[in-house]
Formats: sequence, C-alpha cells, structure tokens
Amino acid sequence: MSNAVTSDQYLDEYGTGLVGRWDDLVGWEARSKSEGAFFLDLLREHGARRILDAATGTGFHAVAFADAGYDVTAVDGAPEMVARARANLAARGYPGVACEVADWRDLAATAPGPFDAVVCLGNSFGHLFSEADLAASLRSFYEVLSPGGLFVLDSRNYDRVLDGTASCGNRNYCCVGNDADVSLELSGPERVTITYKIGCSDVYRIETHPWRRAELSAAISGAGFRGLEVHGDFQADFDPASVEFFVYIARKP
Ligand code: SAM
Repeated sequence: MSNAVTSDQYLDEYGTGLVGRWDDLVGWEARSKSEGAFFLDLLREHGARRILDAATGTGFHAVAFADAGYDVTAVDGAPEMVARARANLAARGYPGVACEVADWRDLAATAPGPFDAVVCLGNSFGHLFSEADLAASLRSFYEVLSPGGLFVLDSRNYDRVLDGTASCGNRNYCCVGNDADVSLELSGPERVTITYKIGCSDVYRIETHPWRRAELSAAISGAGFRGLEVHGDFQADFDPASVEFFVYIARKP
C-alpha cells in the first residue's frame, strides 16, 4: 500500500469481504445495549422527523430510527455497504426506506433533503484524509439540513492515540460483536490503522485519519454550524483523557 492514503480509499476497503462480516463486527444487539437511547433521545428532544443516516454502513442506525418511527433516508458511498443495508432494511420490514449510494462530498444530487437531522456515526470521518474533504463533507451536510437542523457526528478519541495515552484496547462501542477483536496502531503521523480480527482467521485492516477533537470542532464551526456540544462516551461531563469516543452535536442556524 502506498503511503499516500486518500479519502477514496474507503471504496477499496469496503469493497472486500469486510462488508460481509460487518454485521458480525457490529453485533447489533450488543451495540443497541451499548448505545442505549442516546441518539434516539437526541432526535426526540430536537423534534426531528426526517433523518439522514449519512454513513449507514449495513444499516444499523437506519433500522433503529425506522423502528422508532422516523422518516429515514440512508446513504453510504460504498455500493457493497448499501446493498447489505438494503437487504437488512428489507429483512426487518423496511423495504421502502430510501437507501442510496452517495459520497458525502457530493450529497445533494442523491439526498437533497431537507432533513431535520443528519447523523454520521461509527467513526466514519476517519475515512477523510484531507482538510478539503472534511470541509466539503461538512458543507454537504449543512446544505441538506433544514434551518435549525441537527448534526450529529461521532469519532474515536484520536487525541489519546496521538498522545500515546490510549489503551488501544477493545472498548469499542460501535464494534461489539461477540467474536470481534479490534485494535488501533499509529502507523504514521496522520494515519491510524484499525485491525479487525473476526473469529480465529479473518483479519481486515482499514486506514483512518486521526482527527483531533480540536480539529473536528473547528471544522464543524467553520462549516457554519452553531451551538457545538461534545459528549465523551455518551456523557456530557467527561474526562477527555480517558474517554474512547466523542459525539459532536451542533445545529444549522
Ligand atoms: N455507520 C456504520 C456503522 O457504524 O456501522 C458504518 C461505519 S464504517 C466505519 C464507515 C462508513 O463510512 C462505511 O460504510 C463507508 O463506506 C462510509 N464512508 C467513508 N467515506 C465516505 C464518503 N466519503 N462518503 C460516503 N460514505 C463514506
């Protein structure tokens, strides 16, 4: 693999057998327990109705939001993920939920909205490898939100990885399947390799850009969002030196 990872690499990474194993990695039941009602409470408190699940993967949140009665649209840039999300939605009784291939940097043609909320979960922004692509993605989300709309993004606490204080251990709220073993390695100054081991023999690797909390916060505000709140491991009061994940919550004015 060349050293120059780009924001298009996810298309190769999720064009492999990893997609077929994603549901095993996620562990839908365990993940539901781990997240609790955090995201559903946010949507309810905001009074949202139309939701865009912008990195749907295999459809875990799209199904959860449909179960809760929301009007969901699901998109993802990887065609293999979208195929699996459609199958999961249909199997759970939601064959009519719109589920399309769309890259965040060019979203409006496929999912023009307007949406009351855009959620982008599962540490997905780690797949963006330049400030330009980060800004373009945030601009797209801003564009498809209605005024007052809610934006919700999660990210690993890469500050701890970069500062050498992360356990790099197994506490992964989004990949909690029974057989899943997930580890992180700082493999370059701006690169963290995530290795997924499933069962005894299957090993998959993806490259991520370790966006710091300060960088994501600045980019979200720079895109025009206001009222940014950050939660750590789903808590409003948290110690940034010990949490594994951040959730960023902001609004379009
Ligand atoms: N949200 C799902 C979950 O939590 O299970 C999937 C998370 S997976 C780590 C990241 C997802 O982001 C993948 O499905 C990938 O295809 C998608 N993705 C990465 N870069 C993207 C881009 N530029 N546009 C659209 N989707 C992208």
